[in-house]
Amino acid sequence: MFTCKDSIDQLLEFLDGEISADDEEHLHEHLSGCPPCVSFLKTYRATPNLARRALGETMPEDFARSLTAFLRERCKKK
Ligand SMILES: [Zn+2]
Repeated sequence: MFTCKDSIDQLLEFLDGEISADDEEHLHEHLSGCPPCVSFLKTYRATPNLARRALGETMPEDFARSLTAFLRERCKKK
């Protein structure tokens, strides 16, 4: 079974454009039944896009790490 933790890993790869078609399908399946992951994706997408536009590069590593850590914690508690 595809867990939130898996989906976050895939999500990060997906956002980096490093995901296979199979994995992408699993990710979509998970997202369709997991609102917390969807809202994460929305937040995650909105923030780095703004940062990228402003900086012309990827979002700060520290920020990416704390965001990921936060979500992993959240999923663990579930
Ligand atoms: Zn999830």
